[in-house]
Amino acid sequence: MTEQEIKDMLIDSGALFEGHFQLTSGLHADRYIQCARVLQYPARAEKLGQAAAADWQNSDIDAVIGPALGGVVFSYVAAAALGVRSLFSERKEGEMQLRRGFEIQPGESILVVEDVVTTGGSVQEVLDLLQDYEVEVAGITAIVDRSGGRVDFPFPFHPLLELEIEAVEPEDCPQCDQGLEIYSPGSKSTPGQRS
Ligand SMILES: [Zn+2]
Repeated sequence: MTEQEIKDMLIDSGALFEGHFQLTSGLHADRYIQCARVLQYPARAEKLGQAAAADWQNSDIDAVIGPALGGVVFSYVAAAALGVRSLFSERKEGEMQLRRGFEIQPGESILVVEDVVTTGGSVQEVLDLLQDYEVEVAGITAIVDRSGGRVDFPFPFHPLLELEIEAVEPEDCPQCDQGLEIYSPGSKSTPGQRS
């Protein structure tokens, strides 16, 4: 899939929408991304998994891992396309852990996935976790890298779509100046919701 095809799929799924948003950071943005909305469609999720797998099919991956919750479904579909195990990590008392009986053997080649990379914090927590298992990290993928190229992982990083979403202080927000209604994503009503 091309980046444009992925972007179109996100828009068509209501996963990427334009408007006036207050982010959890308090900053305002004119675009918002919620990958759960595209991953709710299994056929579309499968296509995203295949697109991710295409980038890593020569890397001899043994397993895919993503941080819960955002990385769980994407890990699963990418692993399905690669024909390997799908794992997820989760935070317990603030620490990223491998639970649920998941095992990783030393020397295995691991692909790390995330739905949206913003600061790269969750991915870094997974990388830190993997250090304990003496694995080989093949690389990292994400459905969307919205960091604007600011993340700097110590492994190859091939997101499916790079998308810069500029966030500004409310006093610098042009949409506030225009008096546009603002939405807080994550609340019950968000724009683009299909009834
Ligand atoms: Zn604003």
